[in-house]
Amino acid sequence: MIVVSYTDSQDYCYNDPPCNPYAWGDMFPSCHPLLEKTHSPINLDLQMTSNNSLGSLHLEGFDTIQMGYWTLENDGHSVLLQVGSGMSVSGGGLPGVYHTVQLHFHWGGPATNGSEHTVDGRRYPMEMHIVNMKSIHPNLTAALDDPTGLAVLGFFIDVVYGENVHFGHISQKLSSVAYRGQTTKIKPFPLMSLLPKHNMSQYYRYLGSLTTPPCSQVVVWTLYEVPIYISWSQLAQFTSQIFSTKEDAQQVTPLHNNFRHIHPTFSCSVSASRDAKLLRGTAGRPLRSAVAVHLFQIILLGTFISRL
Ligand SMILES: [Zn+2]
Repeated sequence: MIVVSYTDSQDYCYNDPPCNPYAWGDMFPSCHPLLEKTHSPINLDLQMTSNNSLGSLHLEGFDTIQMGYWTLENDGHSVLLQVGSGMSVSGGGLPGVYHTVQLHFHWGGPATNGSEHTVDGRRYPMEMHIVNMKSIHPNLTAALDDPTGLAVLGFFIDVVYGENVHFGHISQKLSSVAYRGQTTKIKPFPLMSLLPKHNMSQYYRYLGSLTTPPCSQVVVWTLYEVPIYISWSQLAQFTSQIFSTKEDAQQVTPLHNNFRHIHPTFSCSVSASRDAKLLRGTAGRPLRSAVAVHLFQIILLGTFISRL
């Protein structure tokens, strides 16, 4: 997730070794994972405890059309949608009311998936983060000093054949923010129309960190079990049309694989909401880990070779 902007001189990146996620700790000490401290993202496995007190969150203003305009921006690390001040989230075990600030995306490349969190070892094509700041704080600096200063709602994004017309509010505007620093106005729409509205009581909860510098451990994560579905062409608009460089750069670089690596959970527990299905049957098909698929391929190969 992205909440803090940096100047070019102290910038971070995803794909070049001197500034990629494994080197972030050199510039931002709090990005160095310490033992017994949970950083994000993590892999969601089946070792979760169900918590019956975790019901649906209250999403204030998500069903209505906000006044004014929203701003879509390419900050060189992601595409962000700044959504004004009319929405907030609370309930569902959150320690307070949090004002919605922005949402943004993480993705892979033309042939790779790019969600930040993984499910049973599987990476989804994309992940969307809705960033919310605890309303008692006057600014982000204060929120970053509070162990539960931010609440992020995370949604996996998977791909199907049909277009997602609601997602089109964003994807159709991406060509206007192809290069770093570009912004464009978007007419507000009900944010709920983007979300899996029939499955909003199914989620996972843990305390973790920002997934971008300064990697502060101040985030109450809510990761929804059922993904948002978009089309192949809507996904391709992210993987082929967004650049991490400015329009006048000598060499333009596509923005690919803007996700941080998976971190160990140590003793941190991940809770499942009352209605969560504990990963079984989500996304409408069995989840297979990459390793399992690989083993299956080896077995097939072995069968093939033994017939030669
Ligand atoms: Zn994010």
